[in-house]
Amino acid sequence: MGVMYSVKCKCGFGAKYFSNVGKMDASLKNELEKKAKDGEYGEEIKELFEKYPDGYLDQTMGLYVCDECGESKSEHCLDFCRKVRQTGATLGERISVVKEYKHTCDKCGSEMRKITNKEITNRKTKCPKCGKDATVSGTNYWE
Ligand SMILES: [Zn+2]
Ligand SMILES: [Zn+2]
Repeated sequence: MGVMYSVKCKCGFGAKYFSNVGKMDASLKNELEKKAKDGEYGEEIKELFEKYPDGYLDQTMGLYVCDECGESKSEHCLDFCRKVRQTGATLGERISVVKEYKHTCDKCGSEMRKITNKEITNRKTKCPKCGKDATVSGTNYWE
């Protein structure tokens, strides 16, 4: 199961994306890793994979908006993460984000803003086009 999220504003702005939260897809993991090692996501991530071969890219889908020109796109999060083994009082594994991936706008090159989980819970975000309140809503779907 997944969730389809949509952002809508009175000014006409509209965007939607499909979330795949909690699903770890092995072939997608390999695909993202291959692209990263080919340098498609920048030199920094490429070097991180050389430094931490056990690292992986967060494949959660997110919606990114550009406050400069009003563009939006849905993409994998791509934060570089590592599973860190914990010792002592809290045993087990913890996920540590080594490097957050900066999403840039295809249209104007500005850094994009992610629609956060908090905004999804509050069902409200700032519209990238007019700056007023836009509605965020989620609908469950079955694959
Ligand atoms: Zn832009
Ligand atoms: Zn608007």
